[in-house]
Amino acid sequence: MEHFELIVIGSGPAGRRAAIQAAKFGRNVLVVEKGRRVGGVSVHTGTIPSKTLRETVLNLTGWRERGFYGRSYRVKDDISAGDLRARLHMTLNHEVEVLEHQFARNKVHTTSGMARFVEPTAIEVEGDAGEITRYTADKFLIAVGTKPFRPDYVPFDGQYILDSDEILELSELPRSIAVIGAGVIGVEYASIFSALDVHVTLIEPRNSMLDFLDQELVADFTHQLRDRGIALRFGAKVEKIEKHGPSDCEIKLEGGRCIRSNVILFAAGRMGATPMLNLDACGLEVDHRGRLKVDPMTFQTDVPHIFAAGDVIGFPSLASTSMEQGRIAACHALGEKAYDPPEYFPYGIYAVPEISTVGMTEEEIKERGIPYECGVARFRETSRGHIMGLDTGMLKMIFSLKTRRLLGCHIVGEGATELVHIGQAVLNLKGTLEYFVENTFNYPTLAEAYKIAALDAWNRMPPLER
Ligand SMILES: Cc1cc2nc3c(=O)[nH]c(=O)nc-3n(C[C@H](O)[C@H](O)[C@H](O)COP(=O)(O)OP(=O)(O)OC[C@H]3O[C@@H](n4cnc5c(N)ncnc54)[C@H](O)[C@@H]3O)c2cc1C
Repeated sequence: MEHFELIVIGSGPAGRRAAIQAAKFGRNVLVVEKGRRVGGVSVHTGTIPSKTLRETVLNLTGWRERGFYGRSYRVKDDISAGDLRARLHMTLNHEVEVLEHQFARNKVHTTSGMARFVEPTAIEVEGDAGEITRYTADKFLIAVGTKPFRPDYVPFDGQYILDSDEILELSELPRSIAVIGAGVIGVEYASIFSALDVHVTLIEPRNSMLDFLDQELVADFTHQLRDRGIALRFGAKVEKIEKHGPSDCEIKLEGGRCIRSNVILFAAGRMGATPMLNLDACGLEVDHRGRLKVDPMTFQTDVPHIFAAGDVIGFPSLASTSMEQGRIAACHALGEKAYDPPEYFPYGIYAVPEISTVGMTEEEIKERGIPYECGVARFRETSRGHIMGLDTGMLKMIFSLKTRRLLGCHIVGEGATELVHIGQAVLNLKGTLEYFVENTFNYPTLAEAYKIAALDAWNRMPPLER
């Protein structure tokens, strides 16, 4: 029986970063992965596939050029599901090769199979052929991620009624799609399909969407979705889902309303992938969504030698934050020095258009009673925006009236997920309005929107006492 200093269960962003960090400390680490190849949801069904799909759609439809050439402009007329998949497979193969090389280079041991605890310090791994191997370790990191939530009332069929893992395998492009769940995944896919001119209905039981974002941004984004013809059904509870035939699905909503579409994507939530871990054997319990509770600074569970990171511990459930959690968890597990994560991390939503945000929303600032001022810039006010033909896109910053410090930065529009990192740096370094007013920005860039938004706020701020 082999013994390791650290066993990591799951090779997604959290597990991968943890294992590499452990190996860089010169520790003996094993990664167990049940999938055929390493990478996790992030590489195989989540982040990278959906972002590759988005990029392919924007390129083949000529989306970014439509500001100049009109809404009917297309780079390719008949875009097929095959066109969309071709680039996907190339990107995923490349990603996996890079990861495998990273593991090999850093001397991280890997094994393939389903892991389950048999004792607090021992797991069994069942391989494809049913063979079982036992491993022990001083420390464990559970990084098993999540799976799509599949409630019984949804008659999933893998072809027309799909979850977010299955949507990538569509054999042909539908003419219409109904997306259930206006969370990040639902909103991303709804807006991507709409960019392909597929008729989209987005259904959400609550009366609003993306409540954790600054509401001015959500209002702008919602307006853009409606303007493109996406039907938004908020406050709409699904009563029944039926398939009448191939490409003929029907959703009955409470109150009697019906929505017919070729395809349904059910994207309302995910569950921790913990049921197969036999956590009873190590003394851990999960919540109603199969998630584990950890100390937010160290990622240690209630069982001191077991740590957990990534989506299995819940919000924010991002690849970006999972990586950092995994790395920090490995440091704590191995008794190495670790810095606390910065207070604010960026959140990126790769819808069409992109949304990205860091720091406090205007609603949170109000709630805390902090006196503040906002500055807003529209991308169409920048020269880069003119060059790119952008008529939408906005950047909003919020500053403290007392300290002039940046409190929040919220962007919707082209390049938002890249641009936000300027705001993130200033925010986490405790910078003020003056950083944006006094520094020179490359011209012409979208980043200039930072200066424009800062000057907008400056107009209404009390004078700076020098
Ligand atoms: C459609 C979609 C789009 C997304 N887009 C983004 C985005 O744009 N940006 C972003 O930051 N995040 C995005 N995310 C979220 C991101 O994918 C996750 O936050 C991230 O993958 C979580 O990483 P993880 O390491 O916790 O787990 P995962 O990536 O889920 O990996 C867990 C791994 O553990 C393995 N495993 C599970 N159980 C066992 C077991 N018992 N034994 C052995 N192995 C096991 C699984 O096979 C899997 O490989 C997206 C997610 C989805 C679904």
